[in-house]
Amino acid sequence: MKKIDKNLMIQEIKKLSYECAFNIDTKILDYLEKAKNTEVSPIGFRTLTKIIENDVLAKEKSIPICQDTGISIIFLEIGNGIIFDFDLEESINFAIKEAYIEYYLRKSVVKHPLDRINTLTNTPCIIHTKFVNSNTFKITLTIKGAGSENMSKLKMLTPADGKNGVINFVLETIEASGGNACPPIIVGVGLGGNFEKAALLSKEALLRDIDDRSSNPIDYELENEIFEKANKLGIGPMGFGGKNTVLAVKVNSFPCHIASLPVAVNIQCHASRTKSVIL
Ligand code: SF4
Repeated sequence: MKKIDKNLMIQEIKKLSYECAFNIDTKILDYLEKAKNTEVSPIGFRTLTKIIENDVLAKEKSIPICQDTGISIIFLEIGNGIIFDFDLEESINFAIKEAYIEYYLRKSVVKHPLDRINTLTNTPCIIHTKFVNSNTFKITLTIKGAGSENMSKLKMLTPADGKNGVINFVLETIEASGGNACPPIIVGVGLGGNFEKAALLSKEALLRDIDDRSSNPIDYELENEIFEKANKLGIGPMGFGGKNTVLAVKVNSFPCHIASLPVAVNIQCHASRTKSVIL
């Protein structure tokens, strides 16, 4: 059994917030470089050059990668040998609040979707919990702006729609998002489960390493096909045209009911900000 130290956890979540907001993942930067070097549209090339410059400057000067420092989404993997002697949810929210105040990050959460009163703490954050067979406690933080999140969609297809129906829906969603999702984007596809499971799968797909390819042959094929077709849409960097609309496509699937075929598309902008720590 392992007891988690509350103060250590708070410090680690604050560090994750800092890392997400200011330090772009080097692999994301590599993908952006690769996109820049293959971009045929002059304005697309210049746009990618500016995005990369922005990301490098953010790291050097401790300036947020984007003004939208997002809503904080936390994924917990709690081993069965882990004990907490404090209120986990309250402590996580405290850590996020402290981080957003201390690092002067924009507070982007309103109390009620219709009263639009800012909570001024960037909390509550959204917490997903999974219990796993281990003696560790893994915390993954992703901060997500509204531009790309607002372009995400879910549809309950019918089994008869099949693979083509899935691909068409994903491509329609990407096309409709245009420049609003700040491309080049990463596309998370959740396939199967039910209504809420598909949405969660699509978000979890975005947490995967950008190099990671699905080990399921059907999902692997889908990732390839959607990637190829999406990059022929011509949307390009920030919607200015070009061949680099999508940096990567990740498909996560789950068994589903015989009569349904849920598909969720969660779009991640080029400011992909996810970090993890294991305690
Ligand atoms: S979509 Fe991403 S890059 Fe665009 S404004 Fe929102 S957080 Fe920033």
